Amino acid sequence: TIVTRFAPSPTGFLHIGGGRTALFNWLFARHHGGKFLLRIEDTDRARSTEAAVEAIFDGIKWLGLDWDGEAVMQFARADRHAEVARQLLAEGKAYRCYCSQDELTAIREEQRAKGLPMRYPGIWRDRPDSDAPAGVPFVVRLKAPTEGETVIADLVQGDVRVANDQLDDMVLLRADGTPTYMLSVVVDDHDMGITHVIRGDDHLTNAFRQYQLYKACGWEVPTFAHIPLIHGPDGAKLSKRHGALGVDAYRDMGFLPEAMRNYLLRLGWSHGDDEIISTEQAVEWFGLDSVGRSPSRFDFVKLTNLNGHYMRSADDSRLADLLCPLLESRLGRPLADGEADRVRRGMTGLKERAKTLVELADSAMFYVSSRPLALDEKAAKTMADPAARADLTDYAARIGGVASWSREALEDIARSLAEERGQKLGKIAQPLRAALAGSSVSPPIFEVMEVLGRDETMGRIGDATT
Ligand code: GLU
Repeated sequence: TIVTRFAPSPTGFLHIGGGRTALFNWLFARHHGGKFLLRIEDTDRARSTEAAVEAIFDGIKWLGLDWDGEAVMQFARADRHAEVARQLLAEGKAYRCYCSQDELTAIREEQRAKGLPMRYPGIWRDRPDSDAPAGVPFVVRLKAPTEGETVIADLVQGDVRVANDQLDDMVLLRADGTPTYMLSVVVDDHDMGITHVIRGDDHLTNAFRQYQLYKACGWEVPTFAHIPLIHGPDGAKLSKRHGALGVDAYRDMGFLPEAMRNYLLRLGWSHGDDEIISTEQAVEWFGLDSVGRSPSRFDFVKLTNLNGHYMRSADDSRLADLLCPLLESRLGRPLADGEADRVRRGMTGLKERAKTLVELADSAMFYVSSRPLALDEKAAKTMADPAARADLTDYAARIGGVASWSREALEDIARSLAEERGQKLGKIAQPLRAALAGSSVSPPIFEVMEVLGRDETMGRIGDATT
């Protein structure tokens, strides 16, 4: 069975690129009926924080990407990683290197003078242990192949190769006995039974060394798929300036997780010209053969429009559940039952116009604001006109005793009043909107009246006309 993993380093939030990597791994596993595992790569003790671990869990959960089993914490497995290095040492596949920092610095300088990158020249590779200086700390290095080449059959990049003389003998254990990142990744991926490593192509060069390590351990090498990174709209690598924010920032900006999934999916993967792809379809269709080889560009406007689509098709009561806490935090008080009820009943009209939950909250505030309603500039101007106030007062007199408080009945009355006076419906609708919504835009106004109910409507009209 297929086993994938997402292996973030908890040094910050779960950013957009990480979210996409997690999504692709999740989709690949779900498509094949396999497993999707999570590993927190917390071996950089100075930079890893508990808060970042929580932020990653929250981000993945919010995206709706459920992982199988318990998350593996990498640092807790350091003994196991070191044990593998010692095993390689015992088998002669790794060796102790006693070079001091000064020696290494000298080598680095010498190579730089020749215009070469630092490559450890295997000084201790074949020296007998009897040469070992007493009491000097050592690192453990892999005895990597020096001839031939290492070839990775990458599912996205195709065959990628490097001449083995371009790679030096990597360090597996540091002088203090702690395992290096490269060792930990390989041991964990092996022990977790990972069959497919899907990650950003910034890790492609690591894959060569990891391949050599698998071979030295006599383990099966997983299949690699290195996905091109996400770039900004200007083609430069995605940075904060472009929206390389945490997934939580997108949640706070009012995006829905299903819209985010759809958008992230399309960043690098395609299915014909389809733009709107549900998660169910994505699970059904996903494959690594349709991952593009060039970097995709992050487009905030596209994401926002896509979110608008998912908002319109979202279930009203779910949207209301998401919206009410936002309204409460704006009001600084809990919603009364009647207010929350208005939000629910008004949702059909509200969600048509909003592209994000934040926009939805903007447009829904009038439903839950206490009287007297604050009018915006345009609405105040409308109500400053004595003729508009008189029209509204006449209308209010006619609806006060209407038997059925329904949008149809309320509209009929407004229409006949306008007709009698030879006016357009807008003559009444405009001040009505100003008085009830405090603004010149709102959901259909007779729907608003129905949702507000008789008392609140009459009260707001009274406030605005006296
Ligand atoms: N921890 C690495 C990162 O966050 C991922 C390593 C991997 O996927 O192999 O970039």
